[in-house]
Amino acid sequence: MPAIPKINPNHKRGKPKRSTITKITKTVRDEVVKRSEGKCERCGRTSAYAFELAHLHQASQGGRGDNPANVALLCGPSVNSGTCHNFADYTASGKEWRMKKREELKRYYE
Ligand SMILES: [Zn+2]
Repeated sequence: MPAIPKINPNHKRGKPKRSTITKITKTVRDEVVKRSEGKCERCGRTSAYAFELAHLHQASQGGRGDNPANVALLCGPSVNSGTCHNFADYTASGKEWRMKKREELKRYYE
């Protein structure tokens, strides 16, 4: 018979789940929508198929969703080429843009 592993019911996860870190909070969402005035923060358009909140330091890299300086409103959807969210997430110059935008936003919140 295989041994039954001991389970400590009081054990707390030592490291927060990535989704807890990267999840864009309501406070951040409200702040970014206010800051951007509903415009894409890269191209400035006010109408698009979709507007999306994009992590500047990407969620896949552990970028935070609870800091408005790490989140930008971009036109999307990210899966459509030609949108700013696609540019930011999937192109090399988009990565540079994200890093620059992050510095700009950090200063904005100082
Ligand atoms: Zn755009």
